[in-house]
Amino acid sequence: MAGNLFVVSGPSGAGKGTLLARVVPKLEAVWLAISATTRPPRAGEENGVHYFFLSNEEFDSLIAVDGLLEWATVHGERYGTIRQEVEQRLNQGVDVILEIDPQGAFQVREKLPQAILIYIAPPSFEVLERRLRERGTESEASLQRRMANAVGEMACRDSYQAVVVNDDLKIAAEELYRHLACVPGETD
Ligand code: 5GP
Repeated sequence: MAGNLFVVSGPSGAGKGTLLARVVPKLEAVWLAISATTRPPRAGEENGVHYFFLSNEEFDSLIAVDGLLEWATVHGERYGTIRQEVEQRLNQGVDVILEIDPQGAFQVREKLPQAILIYIAPPSFEVLERRLRERGTESEASLQRRMANAVGEMACRDSYQAVVVNDDLKIAAEELYRHLACVPGETD
């Protein structure tokens, strides 16, 4: 049986990474995909662990061989899901989680309509900005760009199968766990 494909999406700073870091170790037979990006690594990020950090030319080559299941320009850099890794695991019956932006999420749904789209929302734009500032990973320009993009990203939340509001981390993690641990069709 093929694995389930989950797409976890939402604005930068909503806490997707933090929530997944809490939840994924508790799930069985699930794989969190490692995306390719042209964004330079942040301090502490490792190639092949957090992302595959590619040059623009390398990213172009992946697109040329149809090697990406989806890709999008997000906050001025390109990010994409490596098709082969995802398809291989799904075929092995392993559940796959993609942590990607809404543009990518909708591309995945077009290609694989069985994908389950989960939206992680911040409780408010104020909280989102505070979290991004506290994270300390972005320049002021990048932070402003992420906040401006969040408006459009938040507008599409109703198109998702589930929305998890990340207000209290523990509660949000439990909610996300329930969505990811549930096998569709077996919950009745
Ligand atoms: P960051 O630079 O903070 O790691 O990620 C910026 C945004 O890019 C986040 O919203 C993240 O979900 C998104 N992203 C990461 N990987 C992918 C991917 O493979 N495809 C798409 N479309 N977006 C991605």
